[in-house]
Amino acid sequence: MQEGPAPEGKPQPSADAYRAPVGTHDVLPPESGRWAALVAKFAARATRFGYGLVMTPAYEHIEVFQRVGEGTDVVRKEMYEFEDKGGRRLALRPEGTAPVVRAYIQHRPTPPWKVWYLSPHFRHEKAQRGRYRQHHQLGVEAIGVDDPALDVEVISLAQGFFTSVGLTRFRLAINSLGDGQCRPGYLEALRSYLRAHADELCEDSRSRLEANPLRVLDCKVPACVAVTERAPQLLEHLCADCKTHFEAVQAGLDAIGVTHEIEPRLVRGLDYYTRTTFEFASEALESAQNALGGGGRYDRLAEEMGGPPSPGIGFGIGIERVLIACDAEGVLSTPKPYLDAYVVDAVGPEAGAEVAALLAELRETGLFADRAYGGRSVKAQTKSADRAGARYVVLIGRAEMEKGAVAVRDMESGEQVEVPRSRVVGWLHDHIDPTHRDARR
Ligand code: AMP
Repeated sequence: MQEGPAPEGKPQPSADAYRAPVGTHDVLPPESGRWAALVAKFAARATRFGYGLVMTPAYEHIEVFQRVGEGTDVVRKEMYEFEDKGGRRLALRPEGTAPVVRAYIQHRPTPPWKVWYLSPHFRHEKAQRGRYRQHHQLGVEAIGVDDPALDVEVISLAQGFFTSVGLTRFRLAINSLGDGQCRPGYLEALRSYLRAHADELCEDSRSRLEANPLRVLDCKVPACVAVTERAPQLLEHLCADCKTHFEAVQAGLDAIGVTHEIEPRLVRGLDYYTRTTFEFASEALESAQNALGGGGRYDRLAEEMGGPPSPGIGFGIGIERVLIACDAEGVLSTPKPYLDAYVVDAVGPEAGAEVAALLAELRETGLFADRAYGGRSVKAQTKSADRAGARYVVLIGRAEMEKGAVAVRDMESGEQVEVPRSRVVGWLHDHIDPTHRDARR
């Protein structure tokens, strides 16, 4: 498209103006059927575990995120910040925990407050497969209790979700980041070790070494990995309380058969974590984009945001990432279209009311039913029925109408029978197997 003044004098939009922005994507049927299936599985599982749906705004006052992530790329470099027309500084949600903790502080629900969410997250990242500027997360937060049994519940909720989707090739790594008692001493030990090896580290890690040495443990540059492999480990510096907590989490996971590995360098990307952290990584994906989800405890976050002391734990799972892992493992395929019945009109406008009434009856009694629009030929309508995965076609023909009947065609066998119009809805209910339908959807 050419740039330049449009006939009305308005500037013409560029060719890209009507495409989804870089790093974002549309989710269309039938692929969106996988999204729906994934979300339904998660919602059912979280509900079974006693978690209720929480919805927070897509944007918050910028302080909600700034307080929690001053040292992290997600907040420092990648956040979509803007000023609204009232001059307020706002930011699109880059992560899920801070808004939920903000809501907890604002509404003071009775603890433990157990909630799940599905939300879009915005990060100005270098867009590539598996890394987007708008991605979507399924997550939970459980706030108000520091019982290690809750860590076990939260971790097992995520683990069983992956399994329920059909994934088998993933690993769960866990670690403890200590707390305000033991972490400062460890950070000093880590800093002095890293200082001694500063010339072996990448530039990024060198610049983080003083303010945020934990981040260096997260660096994937091979030279940094070589240095941090030999670095002092936080697990060796845990105070008695953190050690007891971490051991209880491990024992709890063992007790319910949740396989896990201890990964002493797992620090995660956000500042607020304390004690338990965990991450699920797919073994079917390349290591740069293999994180399916992760989370941890954030026992000080509510206080840091001006609320009462309220320990908490949660996780976020990337929907797009999980779907890529599903592709790699060949599970959760895109559902094939399916309908119980498709009404085909072989008469034309004079049968309009009859078609509409029958379709309404089918739908309102719980059948999955559709029709064509726009006066198309019987052949074209039947083709649409086939494309829509219709189990039966209900044909309204002139001869049948005169007899007060309809023709019902079994689209699998091709057999056709005549059924009185007054009995056709019951006939379909009798002939359709809901388990077959559920398996197809
Ligand atoms: P985080 O909030 O960074 O802990 O991310 C939680 C999960 O969200 C990750 O494990 C990924 O599965 C997913 N995720 C994070 N960032 C992105 C992104 N830019 N694009 C797609 N998925 C992402």
